[in-house]
Amino acid sequence: MRQVISGGDTMHRRGTAIIVLVLILLLPGLLALWLYPLPVDDAGDRLRWAGRIVGVLGLSCLLVNAALSSRLPGFDPWFGGLTRLWRLHHYIGAASFVLLMLHPLLLAYGALPASTGAAVGTLFPPLADLWVWVGWLALLGMMVFLAPSFAFFGAPHYQRWKGLHLVSGAVLVLALIHALPLSAMLPPVWAWSIWMLFGLVAASAFAYRALFSRRLARFPCRVSEVKPLASDVVEIGLRPEGSRLDYRPGQFVYLAHLDRELGIGYNEQHPFTLSSAPQEDGLRLGIKDLGDLSGALQNIRPGAEVTVEGPYGDFFPPDLDDRAALWLAGGIGITPFVGRARALGHLGGPPAQTTLVYCAENPSRSYYLDELRQIADSVPNFQVASHLFEREGALTADYLDTVCPDWRRREVFLCGPPGMLDHCRRMLRRAGVRRFHTEEFDLL
Ligand SMILES: Cc1cc2nc3c(=O)[nH]c(=O)nc-3n(C[C@H](O)[C@H](O)[C@H](O)COP(=O)(O)OP(=O)(O)OC[C@H]3O[C@@H](n4cnc5c(N)ncnc54)[C@H](O)[C@@H]3O)c2cc1C
Repeated sequence: MRQVISGGDTMHRRGTAIIVLVLILLLPGLLALWLYPLPVDDAGDRLRWAGRIVGVLGLSCLLVNAALSSRLPGFDPWFGGLTRLWRLHHYIGAASFVLLMLHPLLLAYGALPASTGAAVGTLFPPLADLWVWVGWLALLGMMVFLAPSFAFFGAPHYQRWKGLHLVSGAVLVLALIHALPLSAMLPPVWAWSIWMLFGLVAASAFAYRALFSRRLARFPCRVSEVKPLASDVVEIGLRPEGSRLDYRPGQFVYLAHLDRELGIGYNEQHPFTLSSAPQEDGLRLGIKDLGDLSGALQNIRPGAEVTVEGPYGDFFPPDLDDRAALWLAGGIGITPFVGRARALGHLGGPPAQTTLVYCAENPSRSYYLDELRQIADSVPNFQVASHLFEREGALTADYLDTVCPDWRRREVFLCGPPGMLDHCRRMLRRAGVRRFHTEEFDLL
């Protein structure tokens, strides 16, 4: 059953989730500060102290980040959806990288007042000091799996980037091995229990994603219908083979096909938004050919086996359902709005005025327009406007004034190609609209 949350609770829930996360991240560092105060007399000791503190913080960031990447359905809405959670994961990963790079540097600087040899020896001790070399190995592994995230190496190839992230499992183990005997800041019992607890959570997240999610989280389905909407867009209908998927309009799933005849992407998971209404028996996904896998899916046949995992996302937070809304959709970014509009068709319309502005190149690219207009004609409070780029140019505030005069006071929901998102964000900010919600079709 859907949870009903009162107004403002979405922000409150996100704020609480972030605060809890930050406290967890800081816990080992705070404990270290409490148990091992800053040495006051010696500058070298102070640097070594700082080096250890950043090491402790960097490791907790690394372990917590592993847990965040488990993609447990139902977890991401606490952070405002999977896209936001991935962004957080990205920032925490960057923070852990910086902290863990600073860790050996500060330790070496701390040894510098004694002698240069001591500083070099701190960084590169004899091989017998295996724990330090294990730490270096962990840092090297981290550089390898984070490298594609740096713009310097160009746009990352998604699947390669994902594969490289598996190296992070080895990095976590090496970093923990490095930390245990060297956690001189915490009494051994504290160090063992904290790192073991964090390590256990990270390992469970890894095990869930790599081993168990296939069996526990994926719903087997069969393709029941394939409906071409344009030369490069299809809507596929899915019939669940077992239990029903419980989801909210606008959420998305990871789809993997099990049809060897398609030749490409067997069992490879890709995110697609549910364009069906939760009230329907089956699921529907509108898929545009944007690359190898989405191109191959244009040729999937009824009867093919697929799996879906999810739902994910929080594009339409339930506590905003009763607010007047403006929906701005572009291209295949129409899918979350189609799901919501179909749901409104079942519910008899939205509780408050809702206007959809559907931006497309020309009428042949307005895939769902006829159906959306039919829904608008059959329920109160819902209007649909078609904006054609070829005829009207880019979307403007003046255009919105004509189709939805009070749009500046409405809750705005935005989904479309990157160029349109940038254009609309600028337009909304210029118009003083601060409350807008964006769904992006790119998780990197
Ligand atoms: C939340 C979300 C909802 C989406 N909903 C829809 C939808 O309703 N309809 C639709 O047609 N498309 C949707 N997409 C986009 C769709 O997932 C990509 O077009 C598809 O995964 C591209 O894969 P490809 O092999 O065809 O292309 P590629 O050439 O491999 O990739 C093209 C782009 O898709 C990204 N991408 C590739 N693989 C993945 C992956 N496994 N996970 C995330 N991103 C990936 C890449 O970063 C790249 O920018 C959605 C994406 C996201 C993140």
